[in-house]
Amino acid sequence: MKILNYVFLLATIVVISSCSKEDKTDFDSVNHFYQNASELIIEVAYEEGATPYISSGGNNIWSFTEYNISALFEGRNRPILVSVPNQLAQMTEIPNQNKQSYNNDDIRKLAAEYKKMQSDETRGVIFLVFLDGYYFFNGSVQNNVVGVSVGKFAVAVFKPVIESIPSGLFGNSRPNVEQATVVHEIGHALGLVNNGVDMEEDHQDVQHGKHCTNEDCVMFWLNESAGDMSSFIGSGIFGNNQPKLVFGQECLNDTRNYLN
Ligand SMILES: [Zn+2]
Ligand SMILES: [Zn+2]
Repeated sequence: MKILNYVFLLATIVVISSCSKEDKTDFDSVNHFYQNASELIIEVAYEEGATPYISSGGNNIWSFTEYNISALFEGRNRPILVSVPNQLAQMTEIPNQNKQSYNNDDIRKLAAEYKKMQSDETRGVIFLVFLDGYYFFNGSVQNNVVGVSVGKFAVAVFKPVIESIPSGLFGNSRPNVEQATVVHEIGHALGLVNNGVDMEEDHQDVQHGKHCTNEDCVMFWLNESAGDMSSFIGSGIFGNNQPKLVFGQECLNDTRNYLN
């Protein structure tokens, strides 16, 4: 009897503790964000020596990211205001980590150490860091990967890969590729494709993970490599000085309708 009671008590404790674990609010979860957020802040940090581009061809290029991320939430019942810094002074320089490459854990650690604002009940904060090194994945250094999203609202851009892009046909395409990479990785952080946000119609390129089957969409899988992102961006990210919309309709439908 005593043993039975003990077992019963133990079982109760296990149930209670696992419940409380699930009840704990995760402000950086995609579901919490779409259910509650009225604001999304992109917080930008960069390693010394990996300074992001600010302007190109007379345009402040960060308006491209603001425009495209805002487009993801267009028409939602509760508006989500997107704020993106557009001056270096609004971004944080962090010490050079003197590393050749970074794995997912390294990037999460940087976020834990340097992220200044935190997500809360109605505000999501994505930490975006520009790194002076390469992505380390599957046991090797990825010389051609321009960016990554590591979950928990943390994304990284690998500056040496951006800088390896030849200035060619369309002049200096590095700032454009950098911005398009930022949009692609924030897209993953916000649940695309089938990465936390349910699809309205099937458009996941399952063979290539959380990417889009639409070749004209910034979430197309090849856009994670430098050369292909260059050709995707082509003549630039602005037309008539207005930012171009680079998400396809399938992705827009997902984020505009999810938990709305
Ligand atoms: Zn991707
Ligand atoms: Zn898409």
